[in-house]
Amino acid sequence: MGSESRQRLVLIGNGMAGVRVVEEVLKLAPRQFAITILSEEDRPSYNRILLSSVLQGKQTLHSIGIHPFQWYVDHGIELRLGEEATRIDPVAQKVYTDKGELAYDKLVIATGSEPFVLPVPGVEKEGVFVFRTIRDCERLTEWATRYQKAAVIGGGLLGLEAAQGLAHLGVDVSVIHLSDRIMERQLDETAARLLKQSLESKGIRFLLQKQTAEISGEERVTGLRFQDGTTLSADFVVMAAGVQPNIAIAKESNIPTKRGIVVDDRLRTDVSGVYAVGECAEHNGISYGLVAPLYEQAKVLARELCGLPGLYYNGTVLATQLKISGVNVFSAGETTCSRSCTVLKTLNEITGQYKKLLFKEDCLAGAVLFGNTRQSDQLLQLIRANTPLSDDEKTQLLTEDGTAFERELASLPASHLICNCNAVSKGDIMSAMAAGQHTIAQIKAGTKAASSCGGCEVRVAAMLESFKHGQLLATVDIAERKPLCPCTSLTEQQVAQSIAEKRLVVFSDMSEKLGWKNKNGCRVCREVSAYYAGLFFPGGAPKERNGKQENDGSYTITLPHIAGRLSTDQLKQFALMAEELQVPRIDFSARNQVQLKGLTEKQLPYVFEQLDMPPAVLAGKRLQVAIDDSHYNWPEGRHLAERLLDLFNCVPFPAETEVCVTLAARRHELAAIRLSRSPLNWEVAIGSELFCSNDSVEGTFQLVCALLQYFRQSAQYSENIHAWLVRKGAVHVREVVFDAACQAKLNKQLAEITAVSHEHAERMPVV
Ligand SMILES: Cc1cc2nc3c(=O)[nH]c(=O)nc-3n(C[C@H](O)[C@H](O)[C@H](O)COP(=O)(O)OP(=O)(O)OC[C@H]3O[C@@H](n4cnc5c(N)ncnc54)[C@H](O)[C@@H]3O)c2cc1C
Repeated sequence: MGSESRQRLVLIGNGMAGVRVVEEVLKLAPRQFAITILSEEDRPSYNRILLSSVLQGKQTLHSIGIHPFQWYVDHGIELRLGEEATRIDPVAQKVYTDKGELAYDKLVIATGSEPFVLPVPGVEKEGVFVFRTIRDCERLTEWATRYQKAAVIGGGLLGLEAAQGLAHLGVDVSVIHLSDRIMERQLDETAARLLKQSLESKGIRFLLQKQTAEISGEERVTGLRFQDGTTLSADFVVMAAGVQPNIAIAKESNIPTKRGIVVDDRLRTDVSGVYAVGECAEHNGISYGLVAPLYEQAKVLARELCGLPGLYYNGTVLATQLKISGVNVFSAGETTCSRSCTVLKTLNEITGQYKKLLFKEDCLAGAVLFGNTRQSDQLLQLIRANTPLSDDEKTQLLTEDGTAFERELASLPASHLICNCNAVSKGDIMSAMAAGQHTIAQIKAGTKAASSCGGCEVRVAAMLESFKHGQLLATVDIAERKPLCPCTSLTEQQVAQSIAEKRLVVFSDMSEKLGWKNKNGCRVCREVSAYYAGLFFPGGAPKERNGKQENDGSYTITLPHIAGRLSTDQLKQFALMAEELQVPRIDFSARNQVQLKGLTEKQLPYVFEQLDMPPAVLAGKRLQVAIDDSHYNWPEGRHLAERLLDLFNCVPFPAETEVCVTLAARRHELAAIRLSRSPLNWEVAIGSELFCSNDSVEGTFQLVCALLQYFRQSAQYSENIHAWLVRKGAVHVREVVFDAACQAKLNKQLAEITAVSHEHAERMPVV
């Protein structure tokens, strides 16, 4: 394509998000666009995250560059440094700048954030700084060599890293923080206390619960005065009290904004042809302040720009790791406990090591580590996977101290993310090593792993070390060779095979025939064997009472229905029955299921009969079917959802799996599988990846049934559909379910299994 016939893609902002979008676009369609980037800053791209490392003397300004000027030239990108975009005219499709104007076909706003500057008297004085750009970093370094005392306002990640940087340069630093503990949004009280002690030992002073009232001095800063009347003398002040999305240009151009520029799951603003990405964007009410989300957004946006939609941004579970030498802190997901969660903690006051794990509905929902952060990526993946864990697994997570680190690396699947900032998996790094990249620098350049916050550098180094000794590639399969649980020396695969070959449907029979060390087994082997028995022998597998016994002896029953939906008749019947039985509590679970709590054993048969429920169901995990809230009166979608629910109701699944039927691609973004009706066809997405599309609802139904059946047949127990897809490969799975003969065979098997399972469920005697 000649450059004159290319579409004009303009980016406002040459920061971490803008550059990443361009990199992704170049990967997908290197010749589709004539690209222009406007940058208010006057240097080619650099890794902003590493400014803290520059201040701490661990990096140089030169070493944190992302691309030199020549890279832009080589890719035919026009980079306009030191040029500020001031207004957009979406009708004329033009951007106005402080130096002129330019036309666009597609426009990406990637203007990042601005440091929040406290509106206190004296803020305009010489010696008040923020910490956001290379220029700020240079100024701070210069002042640190001339002056002795600094006050850093803000005890968050940025403030602490700035304080450590200044302390490293020999400055006497005090951190002033409004709350009673530092990093209060990421850390609980214990971790915040340990962190404060650790930083105090490095010479940093803390003034907590202090509100700055004034920056004192004549022309130049001489100190701070606080609301409580106390004062602090300081030669200069660093404002690190948070950031706010830089939305000035959007506001000026009538592009809808709230805290950030409002975007949908495809990073589109409300104005045609105009997109926003990174810290300036607001998705689902959240504007992020870390890089991991913006890299995910960049991938989605690049596909959208190149006309390859099908990828949606679903939000990001955030994780924070402090970049201060010798201080290991990690926090991810939720860190404060609500009523419905379980917390496991360990604290060793002597070594100063602390771990807190927070579980919700048996899934890991949050983690805080202090002292030893080796488990951080494992915990983050578990939070993202949101799959239930057995009590043994939870306890093991708590007691694991990371000393089996190398072994753990070897046993991780190839899909395991090593670098969370850049979404680089173990498999990506292994491929890079196999392709001849044998140093950290080469891996960084080739895969981008360890090139952002640097928290994973130690893991990359360990992988390189193992690779040099020929270990890592050879031991990739260790997970598959590990015994299923402490009760047996057999692997999961061997257990499954024996169940199938020897027809070991009952647990006691299996534990005896396979020489279990503990004949009653543990929760892990009981669950796994029940799953495989149900998979291989539908109808013959053991059932569990359709009601969970609670610790106090009472029963809880969860109603089967399309997530969150009950008809008026059901609701009426339900209310009457609950009233008649004086059911003490009706709850909604996190998955929107209605639960009757506090039932007695005697009441169960009556409840099953009234609600037309089987008294017992196959043990284990199953398929949840949801329909988009806003389209309940959509007969085609509702019918499809009901058919899926009817078919899979009595069929065990390796992991809790959710299907959502929706009219809007952006809805129910957390569903494992999304069936969305677009004006043209049906789209099937797994997570945020488009799996396929189909013209008819029947074709979509057949395809999804085959997909789910293939997943059931070939996934390992507890493997969710995303992990399974990565392991099997999306191309392979498509080949299987698109092949007419294979699809028909899978659906025939499914029909046979479901017929037996349903018949069996109906035949179960009432308890
Ligand atoms: C010191 C420091 C340490 C950090 N550490 C971490 C960390 O450890 N982990 C982590 O995940 N994140 C960290 N962050 C946050 C991370 O750097 C940001 O999330 C990321 O840089 C945001 O990228 P962005 O492209 O949205 O914005 P930016 O990188 O800020 O880029 C926006 C660019 O747009 C330019 N611009 C703005 N308006 C205009 C305009 N009108 N015209 C032209 N150009 C314009 C700006 O000058 C800027 O260059 C850190 C940030 C700092 C400052």
